[in-house]
Amino acid sequence: MRQFTVAPSGCLQWRRRGCGSTLWDVTHPVLDLRALFSSRHGLILASARDENRLVATISETALQLRIPVWTWSAAGGLRAAGQPRAQLNTEEPKQALGFIKDLNRPAVVIFLDADPILNDTVALRALKELAGANMPGRTLVLTGIGTQIPSELTGLAVSWSLPAANRTEMRQVVDRVLQSMGTANLRVNTVNREALVDAVLGLTPAEAERIIMREALTDGSLDPGDEAAIHRARAAILSDDSPLDLLDPDAKLTDVGGLENLKQWLTVRGAGFEPAAREFGLDAPRGVLLAGVPGCGKSLVARAIAGSWGMALAALDTGRLHGSLVGESEKRLQRALSAAEAMAPVVLWIDEIEKAFAKPGDNDGGVSSRVLSVLLSWLQERPEGVFVVATSNDVNKLPPEVTRRGRFDEVFFVDLPSVSERAAILAYHLAERRRDPKRFDIARLADATDGFSGAELESALTSALYLAYSARTPLQTQQLLAEFADTVPLSQMRAEDVAALRTWARGRARPAQKVPA
Ligand code: ATP
Repeated sequence: MRQFTVAPSGCLQWRRRGCGSTLWDVTHPVLDLRALFSSRHGLILASARDENRLVATISETALQLRIPVWTWSAAGGLRAAGQPRAQLNTEEPKQALGFIKDLNRPAVVIFLDADPILNDTVALRALKELAGANMPGRTLVLTGIGTQIPSELTGLAVSWSLPAANRTEMRQVVDRVLQSMGTANLRVNTVNREALVDAVLGLTPAEAERIIMREALTDGSLDPGDEAAIHRARAAILSDDSPLDLLDPDAKLTDVGGLENLKQWLTVRGAGFEPAAREFGLDAPRGVLLAGVPGCGKSLVARAIAGSWGMALAALDTGRLHGSLVGESEKRLQRALSAAEAMAPVVLWIDEIEKAFAKPGDNDGGVSSRVLSVLLSWLQERPEGVFVVATSNDVNKLPPEVTRRGRFDEVFFVDLPSVSERAAILAYHLAERRRDPKRFDIARLADATDGFSGAELESALTSALYLAYSARTPLQTQQLLAEFADTVPLSQMRAEDVAALRTWARGRARPAQKVPA
């Protein structure tokens, strides 16, 4: 279902809400645009990964309404659709806007990469006057600005995003590629057409064609196993150009020692991704916020969720989020979030989420609050197929809106491991390093490590292994005890920080650990 909602900026925006069907099954974008053009919106911020498809969709819609289309670019000036030449001297945005004003006729005018308009006071003034004139049939469409309405245009503009090609369109693309492979003497070995369609959803048709063809050309045929490689190629394309990294989901929930409450909750929620859950009336799970003591397995859980649920894992690098230009941080975040949506089903891991809201430097010029607003609106929208795992160590820097109900399905507090959890973590890491835990006095080791995080247990175990190797002796309980005795855990060095975290968690977060009876 699509609907207007009021964005935090107070502007109207088109939003997609979680619906009972699949992520891609949205109302045809042309219908959305028709409604916008017909309801006299003078100014639209339009965004899409595929500019050609965006221009084609806007033009098709305008033509259906019998409204002439014009296109402007800084390189080519202003040109009427179907005309070979642009209007003379319209490369400057203010000249183009002046021309449209004098034209004084219905028109849909697409400004490609319209950033220069916002940076030119005269052009910006002209744009606002044209948009505010509310002339029936005249709509200015700006592309390349993102979906967040800049403060200069608050109240004048609505934002609209062209969804990626839907399943039906992609099926046509896949059919076309499979056909063309026949003529290129490439074999198609009983591939599952629907699996191929799944693997290219979110891409532009040209990108989809390219990666299917490339896979076939590597060995002269397209085989059932090739979908996995196509999936990976799609994720690489989508994460390119955004602060999103595609990671290998190299862990499973069974690799996580302790955190039983959290694991149990995840097992129940994970089932919510099954199609039967939609029929049962459930929305797909949205995400979880894990706050707590450093080194206690929050990041491990993020990786393990993707691994156990068989989903891709994309990490948002908050360090690469902030740019030096005005509006850049929000644009980068939007790009990353759209890419994540297009990668669905995916686990989107936002490590140290508080850093997303803190632009380095003293005066951030409102960037933090704009980034926060983009992220909160997106979280609220429930993008199906994207499960967000956000982690935080520094809860004091976490804006209260983030933990408010409705953003995440649940907020968990991950504390230092209890004695039984330490035993489980030690046993797991010993087994990982090909040591039989039964040959160690695990109970004694767990007792000796009160206040240790999982990361500290693992690191001390690794040090003991090095010592054992250099002494050419088998690893023994005694060596581990000696190593633990030499370690001062963070919880001891920063006892106040741990106490403050526990105070914060009270009443705000569910314990990830089983509370002892
Ligand atoms: P930070 O916020 O400092 O990144 P974190 O809470 O995300 O800390 P992790 O990075 O997940 O902690 O932990 C580091 C490593 O410590 C993990 O990769 C894992 O090897 C080990 N570890 C921590 N907790 C556990 C656990 N509960 N079970 C098994 N291993 C653990």
